[in-house]
Amino acid sequence: MEKIPYVNLPKQWAMDRDELLPILEAVFNSGNYIGGDQVVNFEESAAALCNTRFAVALNSGTDALIYGMLAMGIGKGDEVITPPNSFIASTAAIVHIGAVPVFVDVCDDQNIDPEKIEKAITKKTKAIMPVHLTGRVAAMKEILEISEKHSLTIVEDAAQSIGSKLYDKPSGSFGRIAGFSAHPLKNLNAAGDAGFLTTNDEKIYENICKVRNHGLIDRNTVEIFGVVSRMDALQAAILNYRLKKLPELMEARRTNAKLYQQLLNKEHVFFPEDKPEEFNTYHTFVIQVNRRDELKEYLLSKGIETSIHYPIPIHLQPASKSLGYKLGDFPKVEAQASRILTLPINQFLKQDQIEYISATVNEFYSK
Ligand SMILES: *Cc1c(COP(=O)(O)O)cnc(C)c1O
Repeated sequence: MEKIPYVNLPKQWAMDRDELLPILEAVFNSGNYIGGDQVVNFEESAAALCNTRFAVALNSGTDALIYGMLAMGIGKGDEVITPPNSFIASTAAIVHIGAVPVFVDVCDDQNIDPEKIEKAITKKTKAIMPVHLTGRVAAMKEILEISEKHSLTIVEDAAQSIGSKLYDKPSGSFGRIAGFSAHPLKNLNAAGDAGFLTTNDEKIYENICKVRNHGLIDRNTVEIFGVVSRMDALQAAILNYRLKKLPELMEARRTNAKLYQQLLNKEHVFFPEDKPEEFNTYHTFVIQVNRRDELKEYLLSKGIETSIHYPIPIHLQPASKSLGYKLGDFPKVEAQASRILTLPINQFLKQDQIEYISATVNEFYSK
């Protein structure tokens, strides 16, 4: 069996190339490299997909979280509740606006545990930032109830969950804002940095449209001080093209996940079951196992590349020192950190490859 890479971006390009090159050439010929029709079209499609009134194209998912929270008036000294097992950007966005991340442990499915949220609420709490990790939407029904009871806003970190749903409601439509990433490694991917924010709030929408472009309201008038966080026309063109292929990509990933769920030996391998109300797009397929590092090595020796999302919990990162957390504060997250392993699940993998990976995992534990 030939080597199985964890991701395969050159293959994606090879398959997109013939159709995408003329589209990119048209962008070059237009002379319009930042903003323009491609970006406007992308925003309309993204809002439609997420079932929100607005989507604003930005430079990254991190910027969507930062400027979204600032637009909601979250800032210095405010507390934002979030899980410590995300990609660093969720917490970094909170810290960056002068707010304080308050961590809450997670469930077996790696998403924030709604039963532990209320204990973390103080007078300073302004918002809850659930992360839809692996593409599985967090327990939004419970989280929304808590946020209403305590008058908190919800900021969704939807960077990994484009197209995912819970009770038929798309991720990105639950919070007052949501941040999405179109980083090359995400399910909907640009060829560089890109991201967007969704919201139903017109004031937030108008604010972010100004902020991303120096605060300009026309060529010469600066209404508020802003930044540069616009989306390039080339990236938007790539995203518009790939949005059309997204349903197919999600289906392929869901099919691969289903195969894993059938084939992996549950005696040794834990993975969360899909609940009937969940529509998970499987940005990643994460298993939880004993002897994780040994298994990772073994798989590599059999030509199977895997990954770990993420080996060091955020509260134990050197950057988090001043936040005052310590080992032992979040037992689930800490236990998972040494047990999680991300298997390849990309849309290019064939059934026989998923079978081979599953058999190799099972074989490791049968020895
Ligand atoms: C990728 C990711 C981000 C950041 O997205 P960028 O577009 O790289 O800024 C934020 N949160 C999570 C959970 C992510 O996976």
